[in-house]
Amino acid sequence: MQDVDYLIIGAGTVGLAFADMLVQHSNCSITIVDRNQKPGGHWNFAYDFVRLHQPSEFYGVESKRLGHAQRDAAGWNAGYFELASGQEVLDYYDSVMRDQLLASGKVTYLPASEYRGNGHVVSLSEGRETLFNVQRKTVDATYFGTTIPAGHQPGFSVDDDVNLIAPNDITTLWKQQPERFDSVCIVGAGKTGMDVGVHLIELGLSGEQITWVMPRDSWLMNRTTLQPSAEFFESTMHAQALQMQALAEASSAKDLFHRMERSGVMLRLDPDIEPEMYHCAIISEGELELLRQIGHVVRQGRVQHISASGLQLEKSDLKMPSNTLYVDCSASAVTRHPQIPIYQDGLITPQIARTCQPAFSAAMIGLIETLDLSDAEKNELCRPLPLPDTPHEYFSISLSNMMNQYVWTRTPAIRDWMMQSRLDGFSGRIAQVTEADASIYTILKTFRHNMPSAIANIQKLMREPA
Ligand SMILES: Cc1cc2nc3c(=O)[nH]c(=O)nc-3n(C[C@H](O)[C@H](O)[C@H](O)COP(=O)(O)OP(=O)(O)OC[C@H]3O[C@@H](n4cnc5c(N)ncnc54)[C@H](O)[C@@H]3O)c2cc1C
Repeated sequence: MQDVDYLIIGAGTVGLAFADMLVQHSNCSITIVDRNQKPGGHWNFAYDFVRLHQPSEFYGVESKRLGHAQRDAAGWNAGYFELASGQEVLDYYDSVMRDQLLASGKVTYLPASEYRGNGHVVSLSEGRETLFNVQRKTVDATYFGTTIPAGHQPGFSVDDDVNLIAPNDITTLWKQQPERFDSVCIVGAGKTGMDVGVHLIELGLSGEQITWVMPRDSWLMNRTTLQPSAEFFESTMHAQALQMQALAEASSAKDLFHRMERSGVMLRLDPDIEPEMYHCAIISEGELELLRQIGHVVRQGRVQHISASGLQLEKSDLKMPSNTLYVDCSASAVTRHPQIPIYQDGLITPQIARTCQPAFSAAMIGLIETLDLSDAEKNELCRPLPLPDTPHEYFSISLSNMMNQYVWTRTPAIRDWMMQSRLDGFSGRIAQVTEADASIYTILKTFRHNMPSAIANIQKLMREPA
């Protein structure tokens, strides 16, 4: 039996961001276990053209910057801060593991090892089992259950003579045999589907060659409003203030998103279609322009079956050329479980504590764990937020988000950390604003002025049917 203070299951973004905070702020021993050979979780299996959806600056672990804080000079993200590629994320986590975590002398890493419950860890290469005597907490950094198209079992049936691939195989297949397929059909309208659509256009397919099965349209966050650095500070805060104003004045979820769209905070593919989904996806207007070239967007529900003659959808059947290449983008990325208390006896389950920010949330949960507080007090400081699915959920998530932010700013150890945190990005800058910075001062004043009415309005609208 081996003694350890913390046993962390999962060396993905969540497990590593949490571990990094324990290493920085405590003197405990940590063992990190992961089935994979390398740190980085689902990024180990990502498609070759994947990039982060939010600027690298806000992703990863607190103690090490991801990327070079540079702005892209070309492409659909031109002018905005860099978005790490999947390989960059993996290289980064490799370095985090070696240079930050293992180098601290506090961390032991067990790759290719599976946690089987009750302190049991089995080495997948040797079959050897180790029993851990966990002195403080087991940390379940697998809560999000991230699934990606590679290795995912689609929820529809497919005949043997149909070409269905994961996004991971597009580049090679299309580059080697561009003449083999007349058309490509993207199955799934989440962020992976959008990435694939953009990639296909970039590979040179015409919009007419692409069909996109879109069971639900999505509201999308405009990346313009989520930029780090001083030069974007005013516009980012302006966007925050407009969101707060929209929350204060909206009469429904639909009205809220329309207000945010008019102020440039939210985007959608087609202004004539009312989105029913909101999953925190982030997009640039450049990407949206490419996606709008796609010739056939099919809004007939989910795919049920694919045969050589075409698609059987929930609401109708659709004939497709027999040599169509289907790309499965239907994996749900994250699994929506009910929230549970983050801090329990012997167990920590990191969840979302700041909306749409898994890395910041895990770091915050790690920091709170290092404070000398009971589990009940820690839970008071950090309420888990649901992962949004529909526009109506924006209300409850915004409220919980504000409540967490409120208690954090009133807890000196947390507030001090946020002021200099790279994953937070804004608290330190906001604290430095004085009346002399006239325009930004006015923006922040408007933001704060609208907060009480926003809270009252959210509480009212949350009670109304979606
Ligand atoms: C393509 C894609 C792009 C994304 N882009 C962004 C983005 O730009 N910004 C953002 O904030 N979020 C993004 N996300 C959301 C993403 O879910 C989070 O960023 C984050 O990577 C999730 O990390 P995780 O640690 O929860 O999960 P994972 O990366 O899945 O890590 C969990 C780990 O746990 C291990 N594990 C599970 N069970 C066991 C067990 N029993 N024993 C041992 N090991 C186990 C797994 O092997 C895995 O390595 C993206 C997601 C996807 C799919």
